[in-house]
Amino acid sequence: MQTTATSAHRAIKEDVEDLAHQVKSRFFSDATQRRSMLVSQLPLTGSLLTVAVMLAFVRPAALRDTGLQLSLMLALVITVLCVLLPWNLLPAKTYLSVPLLDFVVVGLAREATASSFSSLGLLLVFPVIWLAAREGKMGVVLSFSASLLTAAVPLFAGASATPSDIARPFLLPLIMTVIALAVHILVSSLGSQDAKLKRQDEELRKAYEESLARQRLLDTMLDVVGVGVHAVDAAGNDILVNRQHRRNRALSHPSGKEQDLNLLASDGSTPLPPEHGPVARAARGQSFSDYIVRLGSPTNNRVLSSTARAMTDKDGNFAGSVLAFSDVTELVNALAIKDDFVANISHEFRSPLMSIIGYLDLVLDTPEDRAGQHREFLRVAQSNAEKLLNLVSDLLSASSDSMGVHPQKMDLLDLIRISVVSASPRAGSRGVEIINEAAQPLWLTADPFRVGQVLDNLLSNAIKYSGPGGTVTIRAWDTGREITLSVTDTGIGISQEDLPKIFTRYFRSNAVRESAIPGVGLGLGIVKRIVENHGGSITASSRIDVGSTFTVILPKGTDHDAAETDALTTI
Ligand code: ADP
Repeated sequence: MQTTATSAHRAIKEDVEDLAHQVKSRFFSDATQRRSMLVSQLPLTGSLLTVAVMLAFVRPAALRDTGLQLSLMLALVITVLCVLLPWNLLPAKTYLSVPLLDFVVVGLAREATASSFSSLGLLLVFPVIWLAAREGKMGVVLSFSASLLTAAVPLFAGASATPSDIARPFLLPLIMTVIALAVHILVSSLGSQDAKLKRQDEELRKAYEESLARQRLLDTMLDVVGVGVHAVDAAGNDILVNRQHRRNRALSHPSGKEQDLNLLASDGSTPLPPEHGPVARAARGQSFSDYIVRLGSPTNNRVLSSTARAMTDKDGNFAGSVLAFSDVTELVNALAIKDDFVANISHEFRSPLMSIIGYLDLVLDTPEDRAGQHREFLRVAQSNAEKLLNLVSDLLSASSDSMGVHPQKMDLLDLIRISVVSASPRAGSRGVEIINEAAQPLWLTADPFRVGQVLDNLLSNAIKYSGPGGTVTIRAWDTGREITLSVTDTGIGISQEDLPKIFTRYFRSNAVRESAIPGVGLGLGIVKRIVENHGGSITASSRIDVGSTFTVILPKGTDHDAAETDALTTI
């Protein structure tokens, strides 16, 4: 029972709150309109009150005039109504009653004070302005009619009719109509200016939104491209730096500011004076193309090709520059490798060719009866020709995509022994000892010719990169499903930085390139491909000046596997 009462009470409370909310929103939401009504009405009410105060001093008796009292009362009531009435709920033109009533207010006040303030009729200017400003031509007509009535009614009501009284009905409406017209013209010209301003404002807003959209498109494009873009003003200050160029700058210096960038000349080691930096040049108004600089330290840097174009303002004065930076590190490295390769390969061909030519000359110059000497010279020439043939085979293997593998059952120990025998003369001439620790037969299914190439390359490198007194040790053992082979030397070693690159075609470490050790950077690439074509793997470990170990793992395979591998690899 009590619960029902409580819920009924709550429902009533909610209804009352809802009603209060509706009343509030309906009656008080037109605050702007009330304010504008009050502001329009106040000048007249205020002026009348001022007149009343002045009369209190000048002619207190006039205050007892019923007409004046009525006028003041009416003005005050109208002012209060301006604030209280819910104008937005009333018919649209209801507000016109206020300025029209103001004519009555002024008419009454003017009649009552005619002897003290003859020009009080001019107060009509307030409702006239109101009507003309708000109602346009209709307001002008209303102003004229209302002021005519205001001036004429007292005359017809039997007031004294002096000549000036007779002129009044025409003079005052005339003045008021002129004022109404002036206000109307002013307001409509202000209105058309306002409309024009609004149109311009709308156009500006649209243009601004379009430029923002274009700006976003441009920003995205600049961030997507792989080229660094940098724009500077005439003083060299940054206007724009895209994502790629921020990366370029971060490479060189954590602050990423151009003046702090570590710039090197294109040779990669000479520090570039700041005034020769691309941005500094561009800020001086220079335009250039493909200006190569390096960013970073001499050991870790990127090669950038920079291009700059100067911008001018509308008067043709220099206004800044736009620079584009392309990272050409890989290209420059590839070109360096190519140059290096050409130099090495020429050298590798030249030495055996010179030797062949030299020994053939000797054969020709030696008397025919010295057959023993002929044979000896021809053998040297033949061995050099074989070297050349091997070199050409290596080049062909490296450049061809497929490398045929023809597996068969074979003993790795046999191949190791053959390779050791053929490498021994070279090892002996360099003072390097070869130790073969492989002793047991190691059977597997593989291509003996290709595995022989692997052994020859690893042994020849181990000897080539070891100094006199060094040793090269070969081990090989059976690990069940695989055979593992290792070649260890006590030579110059490979830096940790170079280690991952040594199986790349044409790669030669800096240390090796600077020394006189011959080579073209093809051997290990070929070895890796042969091993992988057998389903095996090769790894290298090394320490500078201690030595290197190359470890090859080859699956033993079966006859069946062998047949499959053969079919696959010779396709
Ligand atoms: P090449 O020996 O003709 O230069 P390779 O492909 O056989 O080409 O070797 C590539 C590079 O690996 C060599 O230039 C050298 O820098 C390094 N390298 C290979 N084997 C050894 C080794 N045993 N000791 C030191 N460095 C080696």
